Amino acid sequence: MPNHPSCYLRSFYINSPIGSMVIKSCTRGLHAISQSDTIDDSNFAEVKGLVSTLQMPKLCPVLTTDKFQSRVWVMLAQQVGPGKTISYKELAEVANNPGAARAVGSAMSANPFQIVVPCHRVLPSSGKLGKYAFGKKNKVKAWLLHHEGVSVLN
Ligand SMILES: [Zn+2]
Repeated sequence: MPNHPSCYLRSFYINSPIGSMVIKSCTRGLHAISQSDTIDDSNFAEVKGLVSTLQMPKLCPVLTTDKFQSRVWVMLAQQVGPGKTISYKELAEVANNPGAARAVGSAMSANPFQIVVPCHRVLPSSGKLGKYAFGKKNKVKAWLLHHEGVSVLN
């Protein structure tokens, strides 16, 4: 995650159904949301939790210097709500750059805002689960989608 010398970061920890989460922000906006534990498919236990509605927080401008990437993050957060999914190709179209499915994939890999920028709702065109956190947290992705009432092809 890029750090900026002018940003004084504060970290907040919250418990969630997918484990302990860390939220980092400066006075100008959000820097990151992520699972703070080393949670992966080997130790992820499915639990029932509450659905909460998230509002898109202000993102720190130092993290949004890549215009396409930040447009993809914002479009995904604004247009693909809980219970919906979108393919990499469709998201590229929504971000006004049809044919940039691979760049969308890169933007998802670089997403510092887990849950808030819901990269778990981005699926391959096959409708299958696809990878989450480079394949290390696929069960987390499956849990999040199941939690939102989405059925995914096996
Ligand atoms: Zn900042």
